[in-house]
Amino acid sequence: MFGLPIKYHEPVFRPPSEGRSLLIQQTIGCSNNMCTYCNMYRSKEYMEREEKDVLMDIENAANYFQRIGHFPSKVFLCDGDALGAKTENLLSSLSAIREKFPEKTRVGVYATAENMLEKSMDELVQLSDNGLKIAYLGMESGCDKVLHLTVKGNNARDMIEGCHKLKEAGIEVSIICMLGLGGKKFTKSHVEETARVLSEISPAYLSFLTTMAIEGTPYHRMVSRGFEMLTVKELLIELHDIIEGCDFKDKVLFRTNHVSNMYPIGGELNRDKEIIMQTLKKWIQETPEGTYPPKPSHM
Ligand code: SF4
Repeated sequence: MFGLPIKYHEPVFRPPSEGRSLLIQQTIGCSNNMCTYCNMYRSKEYMEREEKDVLMDIENAANYFQRIGHFPSKVFLCDGDALGAKTENLLSSLSAIREKFPEKTRVGVYATAENMLEKSMDELVQLSDNGLKIAYLGMESGCDKVLHLTVKGNNARDMIEGCHKLKEAGIEVSIICMLGLGGKKFTKSHVEETARVLSEISPAYLSFLTTMAIEGTPYHRMVSRGFEMLTVKELLIELHDIIEGCDFKDKVLFRTNHVSNMYPIGGELNRDKEIIMQTLKKWIQETPEGTYPPKPSHM
């Protein structure tokens, strides 16, 4: 946001749907920072910021929005897993946001399953009651073999338990999965297990991104050594088969609007399942064999 008096510790990331949110860095980096495909926070050492500095950012931002006469409707607490910050500090940030921003301001965070499991139900309910209303989990896959291969740090059972805890506490869960993460070797179990785990969680939001082998990452080195990635057609088949295998108990808003995806599609599941599957089938038929997604220029 142009003119905002906040000095960020770059680089800063947020989910596509938080594009118009005020970004406040509660933590720096990612407490896991091990996932083999990810280069987002490799330049940063994980730390929790001093709460006085976070509060100063919130106050400066609030004064700025007061001056220009317009407040954002959402605040996103960065970086990679701000839910892992101490609960007392998160509560203090939420309370400052409540005090200085309009009443209905929604606060979101990135979270790992580890963060979700570490917090007690009582802590999660307090966070929810004080304005934390959505957590974004990079689940990536429901297949333990793929999660292990990519050093995700949590297994499928952890993802399910963590998400159920958040939902019970009144915090919506938005899940991100990665098409092609298990390559050709694990595509079958990646599809089957991801559909199963997603169905068990029934997240409020579900999005996909396409796995890219980013130079400098362990995943890239694995691909250079012969780990076979998926073609565009195979990626579309994965997406089709995962959606086909999902059976949600609650309404799920689904989209593939990440910059890494070549085919944006979305809708409400289960309601729009049939039309989404028909569209994906058509794209699969029209896509030639043997083409790969473009190499990442940035991620
Ligand atoms: S938990 Fe998320 S941010 Fe952290 S290393 Fe893994 S993918 Fe990257």
